[in-house]
Amino acid sequence: MATNSKIEWTQMTWNPVTGCTKVSQGCKYCYAERLANRLQLMGVKRYSNGFKVTLHEDMVDLPAKWKKPSIIFVNSMSDLFQEEVPLDFIKNVFHTMERTPHHVYQILTKRSKRLKEVANELDWPFNVWMGVSVEDARVLHRIFDLQEVPSKVRFLSCEPLIGPLNNLPLKGIDWVIVGGESGPKARHMKKEWVESILAQCREAKVDFFFKQWGGVRKHLTGRKLNGQTYDEMPLAKNNLSAQLALWSR
Ligand code: SF4
Repeated sequence: MATNSKIEWTQMTWNPVTGCTKVSQGCKYCYAERLANRLQLMGVKRYSNGFKVTLHEDMVDLPAKWKKPSIIFVNSMSDLFQEEVPLDFIKNVFHTMERTPHHVYQILTKRSKRLKEVANELDWPFNVWMGVSVEDARVLHRIFDLQEVPSKVRFLSCEPLIGPLNNLPLKGIDWVIVGGESGPKARHMKKEWVESILAQCREAKVDFFFKQWGGVRKHLTGRKLNGQTYDEMPLAKNNLSAQLALWSR
């Protein structure tokens, strides 16, 4: 439920909610679904419901027990803003983030409509980064929703990138992550799509993070773009040198 993460752009994951439902093409080969079903088969108690939405009240306070400052991805196994998660539960998650300012929290959703609807009922502490997934141009509307959310840091996760994104509205966006799909049925990501996003980020002065090429054997394709690794992050926006230091350790 809380683990050191292998995800390149974070350090820890925290899952007060598990399980989800699919909403767009980016969900087609959902990694969380595969993992949840595997854990259920292995008899892991937390995943006795498999990929059905499950609230874990006892996990809501967990990051308060972690003394070491960390970058934490919230709900890697779910989507905090899905309708099945009551607003009071979301408020409790935000309350935990607010009272643990030594951590940075990254929340990612595909439910941008609900995010926008409830955003004004939430307090937005400086250490919360809010992002939306944008896998292709059909879901650009998620960015417009995110732009109305009063989060200190806003970001896009263009992963799995399955189509070109040549006109990203980057006003008010601080960070863009790009990654190709991995796994047995991975859909191909074209290099020109990635280069276009990098060029748009450079033009708009937005941090760019290239996570991976992906593919069936992602360790063979790596994460270099034209010979270069892109690991930019908007840490300085939080103005916390300690957090910068922990990222480079
Ligand atoms: S929103 Fe995320 S967790 Fe939910 S099904 Fe889609 S990819 Fe999986």
